[in-house]
Amino acid sequence: MGFCINCGQQHADGTRFCRFCGNQQPGEPLLQRLRIEAQQIHGIRLQMQAQQANQYQQPPRW
Ligand SMILES: [Zn+2]
Repeated sequence: MGFCINCGQQHADGTRFCRFCGNQQPGEPLLQRLRIEAQQIHGIRLQMQAQQANQYQQPPRW
């Protein structure tokens, strides 16, 4: 099962077009790319959080 990226209605796997709003659904390659991008963003966010934590642990010396 998948969900329409436009209206959020549920539809069967492999559906090319949403039967509720007609929006074209992403194929598996696009979904994979989006997953990889989401992982990369997650990794960048973790790095930024780690950097911020380091800044708090090591205050700048004036
Ligand atoms: Zn839809």
